[in-house]
Amino acid sequence: MISSIPKWVGNLFEGALRPNMKVIETSYIRRRIKLVRFQGDIAKMDFQIGYANVIRVSETELRNYTVALCDTKNGILDFLFHIHGNGVGSEYIDTLEVNDEVYISPPRGKRLFSPEIKQQLFFGDETSIGIACSALPVLKKNKHQYHFFFELGDENRDVPQLLEIDNVTVFSKKETFRNELWVRDLSIFQTPDWKQASFVLTGNVKSVQTFRKVLKDKTIGKIRAQGYWLEGKKGL
Ligand SMILES: Cc1cc2nc3c(=O)[nH]c(=O)nc-3n(C[C@H](O)[C@H](O)[C@H](O)COP(=O)(O)OP(=O)(O)OC[C@H]3O[C@@H](n4cnc5c(N)ncnc54)[C@H](O)[C@@H]3O)c2cc1C
Repeated sequence: MISSIPKWVGNLFEGALRPNMKVIETSYIRRRIKLVRFQGDIAKMDFQIGYANVIRVSETELRNYTVALCDTKNGILDFLFHIHGNGVGSEYIDTLEVNDEVYISPPRGKRLFSPEIKQQLFFGDETSIGIACSALPVLKKNKHQYHFFFELGDENRDVPQLLEIDNVTVFSKKETFRNELWVRDLSIFQTPDWKQASFVLTGNVKSVQTFRKVLKDKTIGKIRAQGYWLEGKKGL
């Protein structure tokens, strides 16, 4: 996915990339997790679990984010942003306030959800809280057996609870999903129910890769994986 554009391309497509959504509400769930509500014309946008929208975060930079809630009737989109403090996107989102205008692309990307499977496990970190919020009502409505695994910074441990996400296990980032032997020991692998589950892996690329490898080695479930960010790499 494109994350930066040369200035001349930006100038050429200035019309297409001009602000189309207005900020109508912002709040911090925790200091580093920001909820922003946008309003605009989203009638033609097709939202699917796993799709992402590109947000223009500077003259030349675009970043991917996942809708947490979509209210097509009222033209409202909520996003949950990890204000990690290391990048232009995070810094820009941190400054957003009511009445700011922003360019948000139509959603596109990978469909990560397999509704035909009863057991659903979603894994991710702070960047995956948005996809969890968008999936939750669907999982409840379809009466799926679902569970969320989050690896979170200590200061964000209670964010799933504050957002009323249930069936959650929170892991510390120190535990860690980057250690294959540790992942192999997760208790979920002892429960036969989860052998046929759908696993949706998002968030830190290294964690996603490690978890995916263990699942593949154990030939468990149907795996859908998409790394959302990689240490040292700008914009994925
Ligand atoms: C399909 C998709 C959906 C996504 N949905 C969301 C979403 O809903 N909410 C959300 O917050 N993010 C989401 N992301 C992740 C987000 O796009 C990245 O975190 C992005 O790198 C942020 O841009 P930036 O300009 O802040 O940092 P960049 O300029 O891209 O990176 C600068 C530095 O910051 C580091 N960095 C990037 N992200 C993080 C992080 N989360 N924690 C710590 N260090 C980081 C990078 O490794 C790099 O060293 C999604 C990504 C993808 C691909």
